[in-house]
Amino acid sequence: MNIRSYYLLLIIFLGCMSFAREAIPRLEIIEIDKGVFLHKSYSQVEGWGLVSANGLVVVNDHKAFIVDTPWSDRDTEKLVDWIRSKSYELLGSISTHSHDDRTAGIKWLNNHSIPTYATTLTNNILRDKGKAQARNSLEGNENALANGLLEVFYPGGGHTIDNVVVWLPKHQILFGGCFVRSRETEGLGYIGEAHIDKWPASAEKLLTNYSNAKIVVPGHGAVGDVELLRHTKYLAVKASSKAEKSIAKVLSE
Ligand SMILES: [Zn+2]
Repeated sequence: MNIRSYYLLLIIFLGCMSFAREAIPRLEIIEIDKGVFLHKSYSQVEGWGLVSANGLVVVNDHKAFIVDTPWSDRDTEKLVDWIRSKSYELLGSISTHSHDDRTAGIKWLNNHSIPTYATTLTNNILRDKGKAQARNSLEGNENALANGLLEVFYPGGGHTIDNVVVWLPKHQILFGGCFVRSRETEGLGYIGEAHIDKWPASAEKLLTNYSNAKIVVPGHGAVGDVELLRHTKYLAVKASSKAEKSIAKVLSE
């Protein structure tokens, strides 16, 4: 092999390497109940690597509502294309807290005149971070959207101070977002803005309200049932008692 073709091969090899590192898997859409679709999008997160995020599309009577936008403009556009390809009328989107895996597509949706929703608290956080806010602010603790197809509930702080969950009464499905941890995880995930002291009581509230949930959808990882709420409470109790112990240790020193 002459030196020129050697370099050519090296360039191709390095090109493939960087492509492999940066390739983001395609948006996935999976029906989990009649008229309820899980959308799964991916992103590279510093310190975590490739991470997938769950959201929903809830359809009733050919009208669709998005719960959490995909993690990029590209995948938001793909999801909207998919909704339109099914001839569903897209009524809007609700974001369950301010982080990008819930809100990255808000700007794209706003630019395409699709109604976006978030709580006032989430919108205030988005405003303070200089990010696009949802056009509609939800006040109060419980809010019905799309004629009661979705109910938004604020359990109290946990993953973040603004995390809400979405209950689908017709389907008995709880979308827990990042507040709810999947069964395969033994940690609370990103806790940079978490309220670990509040998380156990907030989780207990969900267990009380939604003990009849048939399906529980976490923000990341596999879909499960009420067991995910118990698992989340267990992880939160463990983390908060550990935090209390280390505070007590510092105080006693
Ligand atoms: Zn988050």
